[in-house]
Amino acid sequence: MDCVFCKIVAGVIPAKILYQDEKVVAFPDINPTAPTHVLIVPKKHIASLAQLPDNESVLVGHMVKIANELARNGGIAESGYRIVINSGKEGGQVVPHLHMHLLGGRQLDNGMG
Ligand code: AMP
Ligand code: ZN
Repeated sequence: MDCVFCKIVAGVIPAKILYQDEKVVAFPDINPTAPTHVLIVPKKHIASLAQLPDNESVLVGHMVKIANELARNGGIAESGYRIVINSGKEGGQVVPHLHMHLLGGRQLDNGMG
């Protein structure tokens, strides 16, 4: 297993697990860019959004649901937050295992850069 997020899912690399169920796990980003910076990660290895099988698109909806719950529980639902999925090199993806960023707790720029 040569994937950092698969290793976190397996418990081989430690992370502070904020939420998990049979499909996903959520933990703080190791290099946060906002006061709240959480990663929501499918337990199954899918290399990127671009490689998400059509019949598994419901998984991303589930990730959004969990991000919303974490935003509410983290007290940023009212002030505002952002969810981001980077896909591929030019999309800014560094870790080749599908993940969603939940960012909030400060004023974010328009993020279209
Ligand atoms: P991306 O650019 O969308 O692929 O984002 C990958 C994110 O994973 C970055 O924000 C990293 O800081 C984060 N990251 C990498 N390794 C770890 C780790 N062991 N625990 C938590 N976050 C990590
Ligand atoms: Zn993986």
